[in-house]
Amino acid sequence: MKKIILTGDRPTGRLHLGHYVGSLKRRVELQNSGEYDKVFIMIADAQALTDNADNPEKIRQNIIEVALDYLSCGLDPAKSTIFIQSQIAELCELAFYYMNLVTVSRLQRNPTVKTEIQMRNFETSIPVGFFTYPISQASDITAFRATTVPAGDDQEPMVEQTREIVRKFNSVYGETLVEPEILLPENCVCQRLPGTDGKAKMSKSLGNCIYLSDTAEDVRKKVMSMYTDPGHIRIEDPGKIEGNTVFTYLDAFSRPEHFSEFLPDYASLDELKDHYRRGGLGDVKVKKFLNSILQQELEPIRTRRREFEQDIPGVYRMLKEGSDAAREVAASTLADVRRAMRINYFEDEELIASQAARFSR
Ligand code: ATP
Ligand code: MG
Repeated sequence: MKKIILTGDRPTGRLHLGHYVGSLKRRVELQNSGEYDKVFIMIADAQALTDNADNPEKIRQNIIEVALDYLSCGLDPAKSTIFIQSQIAELCELAFYYMNLVTVSRLQRNPTVKTEIQMRNFETSIPVGFFTYPISQASDITAFRATTVPAGDDQEPMVEQTREIVRKFNSVYGETLVEPEILLPENCVCQRLPGTDGKAKMSKSLGNCIYLSDTAEDVRKKVMSMYTDPGHIRIEDPGKIEGNTVFTYLDAFSRPEHFSEFLPDYASLDELKDHYRRGGLGDVKVKKFLNSILQQELEPIRTRRREFEQDIPGVYRMLKEGSDAAREVAASTLADVRRAMRINYFEDEELIASQAARFSR
């Protein structure tokens, strides 16, 4: 079986460090590994509209931001098909058929959707489109026959829902769709990077993000005001590592060579943590270290972004080409689906002949 990747992001803002460690960085590695037959990267504008119906301009403006973030991180249109979800009409039709295979109570059990409904204060006024977005995501994944979905752990329930739909579809209509698997980051702190405020998840909707395109000065300010251990007041106080966002980020971003480069007094992250726990190590020193690491990681991304910003029409052309190519693939899956469901009446000569025989009796 072919190995195919499908993943993407909602164009609700620029991409942040959570996207980067949760999915984006891995995508680039997988794209370059040569192990995958196809890589599809989707800008999920239709999904973003499910909770931004009254603000389509926000989505329209952010498509180019996400595309620039992709290119500056190293996604390469020569190796990956980058496309815009709303341009692939076939995805809606697939979702329409899949809706018949999922119950309302199954959707209500989705823990990610539950949290997101709370976060958005939807309470009883949940848009139907938002409620059903896990089904729409199943169309996105299956339309491209994806085997692998590199994503953060908030996507686990979506991929599980997709697998259920695939199994149900295949058992009712015959073997047609491919069951995908999620590919979580190996480093478990990267599966759900917390926000700079210490909240469970860095998320555009929570406004606690360090963006890939933030200036060096913005990144520094955000790092210097990050949430640490509120009980660690004086330098000599013992400090906590658990729930201390600065240390979580060090778990996510630091590598052994960073110590000799930026903080030669310590040989490893364990040594730094031990000192913090004992007391006598100030937050500012640790934050400065984290800042140096992040600046080193982000500087080349910022530089490449400025280059791509010089040719915006070219970026839109790339998205158009990607969307045209993606549409062909989705159309071929949809044709298989229609055939399996036997709603391909006009190409079904047997059906037409048997009906003719029935009426000529
Ligand atoms: P929104 O608030 O609009 O939902 P978001 O910040 O949650 O935005 P998405 O576009 O929903 O971002 O997520 C895109 C991808 O990035 C998904 O694979 C998701 O798992 C991953 N991701 C997003 N935030 C994080 C995070 N804090 N840690 C790890 N992965 C993340
Ligand atoms: Mg999200």
